[in-house]
Amino acid sequence: MDMNQKQSKKADTYSSGFYVPDAQQKQHRSSPRMHRRRKGCLTIVLVLALATGSWMWYRSQVTAHGDITPSSLNAPFSILHPISSLEARRTEQATWGAVEAQNPTAMVHELTLEDAFFRRMTTKARQWQVVALATPKQLTAPLDGDLEVTSPFGPREHPVIGQELDHLGIDLVAPLGTSVKAAERGVVAWEGRKWGYGNCIVIRHSTHLASIYGHLSHTNVHVGQSVSKGEAIGLSGSTGFSTGPHLHFEVRRDSTPVNPLPLLASSSGG
Ligand SMILES: [Zn+2]
Repeated sequence: MDMNQKQSKKADTYSSGFYVPDAQQKQHRSSPRMHRRRKGCLTIVLVLALATGSWMWYRSQVTAHGDITPSSLNAPFSILHPISSLEARRTEQATWGAVEAQNPTAMVHELTLEDAFFRRMTTKARQWQVVALATPKQLTAPLDGDLEVTSPFGPREHPVIGQELDHLGIDLVAPLGTSVKAAERGVVAWEGRKWGYGNCIVIRHSTHLASIYGHLSHTNVHVGQSVSKGEAIGLSGSTGFSTGPHLHFEVRRDSTPVNPLPLLASSSGG
């Protein structure tokens, strides 16, 4: 009897062209739970795929931009690349001895590495933080009062090495402990020691413009901090390759050093 009923029901169902699950059958009762479980698994797989995809995209960006992966000996320590950073540090330590002994070849090598470092710092580093800011046409002077340039921008005989090298910024008279101001609003991309520059600060003002403040005796900003135009960021000093207290002020447009004076001309008033 039972068998016959089931048989006839099934036949009806199939003949209508649709498959209608039989509510009387026990195995169909667990189906909604199975369905939920399958849904859960699918969500987890999707989330994992999304996370993996995002991570791979991030890594490809980092590799393409080279802002975190140390590509030279002079790269800062990176938590993402501790081994290569340690290797870089070890080699850096080895060259520091020669630099400290003021070996001209070692110093030129160090300056070349630093230039490469600042090129990265002033273009690709933390682009997302400043990408919304417009490139400023004018900058405010990094020091109060009239500016006195002791060493102009361009080729000169390096005061420490004694070789003809390009001066990538301008040197301004600044007694020890003079307050140094941000030339324009932006985000601090680097704060810390770089051999030739001593204690220095790099501020990104936009996608295209950045400024560097060198030989500082004290800094009071940290990486990632937003600073406003004219904000006090540190004190002048004589750290790094320096013969006496002064401020080395450098401006880079798309990583290339440019003469800062024309950018300051109208704001400083001469
Ligand atoms: Zn200088």
